[in-house]
Amino acid sequence: MSVLRLAIPTPLRRLFDYLPPAGTQLDTLHPGVRVRVSFGKQKDVIGLLIEISEHTDVPASKLKPALEILDQHPPLPDHLFELARWAASYYHHPLGDAVQLALPVMLRKGAPCQFAHALLWRASAGASLDALSSRAKKQQETLSILLEHPQGISNDALRAEGGETVQLKKLAEKGLAEQFEFTPDSHRPHLPPELLREPVLSLNSQQQQAVDSVNQSSGFQPFLLEGITGSGKTEVYLQIIEAVLKAGKQALILVPEIGLTPQTVARFKARFNLPVVVLHSNLSERQRLDAWLKAREGVAPIVIGTRSALFTPLKHPGVLIIDEEHDASFKQQDGFRYSARDLAIARAHREQIPVVLGTATPALETLWNARQGRYQHLKLTQRAGNAKPPRFELMDIRQTALNDGLSTALLRQIANTLKQGNQVLVFLNRRGFSPSMHCDSCGAIADCRRCDAHMTLHMKPPHLHCHHCDSQRPIPRQCPECGSHELKAVGSGTERSEQTLTAMFPKYPILRVDRDSTARKDSLEKMMKQVHTGEPCILIGTQMLAKGHHFPDVTLVAILNADGGLFSADFRGMERTAQLIIQVAGRAGRAEKPGNVVMQTMHADHPAINRLIEDGYSAFADDELQLRRHTQLPPFQHLALLKAEANKQGRAEAFLRAVREQLEQTGMLSPQSRCIGPFPFTMEKKAGVFRAQLQLQSPQRADLHRSLGLLCQFLEQLPEAKKVRWTLDVDPIEV
Ligand code: ADP
Ligand code: ZN
Ligand code: ZN
Repeated sequence: MSVLRLAIPTPLRRLFDYLPPAGTQLDTLHPGVRVRVSFGKQKDVIGLLIEISEHTDVPASKLKPALEILDQHPPLPDHLFELARWAASYYHHPLGDAVQLALPVMLRKGAPCQFAHALLWRASAGASLDALSSRAKKQQETLSILLEHPQGISNDALRAEGGETVQLKKLAEKGLAEQFEFTPDSHRPHLPPELLREPVLSLNSQQQQAVDSVNQSSGFQPFLLEGITGSGKTEVYLQIIEAVLKAGKQALILVPEIGLTPQTVARFKARFNLPVVVLHSNLSERQRLDAWLKAREGVAPIVIGTRSALFTPLKHPGVLIIDEEHDASFKQQDGFRYSARDLAIARAHREQIPVVLGTATPALETLWNARQGRYQHLKLTQRAGNAKPPRFELMDIRQTALNDGLSTALLRQIANTLKQGNQVLVFLNRRGFSPSMHCDSCGAIADCRRCDAHMTLHMKPPHLHCHHCDSQRPIPRQCPECGSHELKAVGSGTERSEQTLTAMFPKYPILRVDRDSTARKDSLEKMMKQVHTGEPCILIGTQMLAKGHHFPDVTLVAILNADGGLFSADFRGMERTAQLIIQVAGRAGRAEKPGNVVMQTMHADHPAINRLIEDGYSAFADDELQLRRHTQLPPFQHLALLKAEANKQGRAEAFLRAVREQLEQTGMLSPQSRCIGPFPFTMEKKAGVFRAQLQLQSPQRADLHRSLGLLCQFLEQLPEAKKVRWTLDVDPIEV
């Protein structure tokens, strides 16, 4: 008797056996196909076939038949299915959950693995913008979108790109546009006679060497492309991709969450006469599946997405590019805690293609891999074109009175910059009006009721907001403790600085860029348009400003509060602070005009900061690596965190203490491994639950993983483990 062994999305770390549906031809079944089953009380659950087995431990009377085999062929190619399985075991995550996450949501829900049977529009053969009068602006716009999508575009997608569907009819009447039924066959990939839409830039010798190294490599080869800000990494990517396209292959580019901006995408679209498929979070489930299928069928030559795009199948894989590889958003922070950057290396190995990790500020793990020769290290040490690196000034503010966070000396520099007709960028990594509200009479602070955190005061619109659990409440008129009316906003966020700067520089536009001001669609784009007019203005914002933007007219960057991270409890605090400073500073002087960076700090004599500013990121990183070696931290040791959450204070910690004893007494932990903790989180209570963690570390990865495997088995059996919510975080990036 044969059974189907399925991975089913549950927290249970095991497979589930079912009888094949009546009449199934077992020899046609391939691992990875989706199978519909009833599971416990749920009538309709989708599992993935892992294997067909002749044995089962389930008594025959309890074996249920599966309801339906959904696929003839597995949706994921074998090597990606295996990658997802490998990732589940590496991150010690339940297999059923992990492998499902590699699929688009519609497939997880059981939809057929096919393109929507939609009617699409395309420009008729020979249609050109010249055929329209220059006054028919709307028609011109719509036709130019069609021309950008020679393989067809749906009504929805056209609207999303700013076209008007009413214009299609008019274009059709003029014989300039036509509708056709979409089938994968109508999407045959073909290289247009003119692959490039714009001429390539002529590379400097370092860029050329980087492009050549990647294009001349064969098979699997990881590269670290370490290029200072403004060194032209994107041009390097574009020319690598060009060679990949010419070889008839596809490129997959992963960017950080806040880096997937219209400008980023526009640079890829502007270069090639080929469609660029973007997997962004605004896509509907249907659009996402179609985009995914286009990649899988090989009709999407260029695919750009964030972390979750890592599992997008490519029919003809050519290259993987991870831009800003140091960015924390490549690591999923809940559920299946995988690192898309690290899995990209594993994927490229399976596909035998090059993988390029690009950044100005490599993660220390990546740098160490390069130093060890595991990655080929490509360096761009000069800014592209005529741009010069910015001049850096540390401004000691210990003895200085501040105007809402801005020193007088800094305000003077801002005024001068504007007077010279240039733009200013003010970086403040704190949104809202002020980070806390105090009572002036009794000192009470408005705290979140569900977290160990202060409520942030917002004025636009007025309310108190917890940035950790999203709780909101109205601003009280009186102190709830003593009844006083003397409530005071303490400290500055972006809203307050915006207000201060507006009062001081009334003649200039002040543009605030943070999560709140850009919540409305298009608002970021509008502000960026204003910046790109080149007129003097002040940009004030959070790290949304630090990534993926090119501001040619910004000549002064002011960093207000970046030194908070220097004394973080997390051993990566220093590394992260340095990366942020370099990234923000890199927005200054990116074109013809030279740039200045002023960093206000309370720690002007901090050795690491001075090293960073005087000798650059590489020198800083070398020091930091030495420190990590001495303190036995990653990349010299491998870490995992066992995290626990409970509804009662102390319970998670007590549970972890008991686990630690077990680990040490039963030999689950090898002699080389160490256990540290448990410790409550710095913010123990978050959204009403109390959290603690236990750190496990070992100089040997294999050794750590053996312990983690035993630990998971142990915890699954442990009755006390049912009273807490526990999760494992392998290679954690927040400690
Ligand atoms: P990075 O991503 O390394 O910070 P970008 O790729 O955004 O840098 O490039 C910065 C600017 O330099 C862009 O305006 C780009 O067009 C320009 N640039 C890049 N390469 C060259 C080159 N070889 N010659 C002239 N300009 C270049
Ligand atoms: Zn009070
Ligand atoms: Zn809260």
